[in-house]
Amino acid sequence: MNNRTLAILKPDCVRKNLIGEVLTKITSAGFTIKAIKMVRLNKDSAGGFYEIHRDKPFFGSLLDYMTSGPCIPVVLEKENAVNDFRTLIGATDPAKAADGTIRKLFADSITQNIIHGSDSDENAAIEISHFFSRKELLENYGL
Ligand code: UDP
Ligand code: MG
Repeated sequence: MNNRTLAILKPDCVRKNLIGEVLTKITSAGFTIKAIKMVRLNKDSAGGFYEIHRDKPFFGSLLDYMTSGPCIPVVLEKENAVNDFRTLIGATDPAKAADGTIRKLFADSITQNIIHGSDSDENAAIEISHFFSRKELLENYGL
């Protein structure tokens, strides 16, 4: 399976009223939205999601940011989804992101960078299960 990835429209994307614009960018690039919802992370759930960054100096500010308001996890489908989506969103630091990428267009800082994208097929599957249970994927979204 190399056709699914997890995006998160992060809390700054919601606050800045950019949900529609960002989703349009995503679907215009050929991705299909297979599952979507709005959720509020707490410190435990955000910490679990970003477990690999627990020892990094930015971990505390990352958790403050990710718990600062609702976010929107989205399951996306496309051939070569993981790599194509990373290309679409651009580098982690918007100052270094390529022109036309979502982070270059809309993000304010390396922390408040609008959007998440999985970095491997294995992590995509793990990250999708962080937000969507198997039962929910099957019963609500037909996945
Ligand atoms: N981040 C940060 N400072 C950094 C690096 C990352 O605040 O120096 C935040 C940023 O929100 C980023 C997230 O932590 O999106 C996860 O970092 P990662 O290196 O996995 O970047 P990504 O995969 O999101 O591009
Ligand atoms: Mg990452």
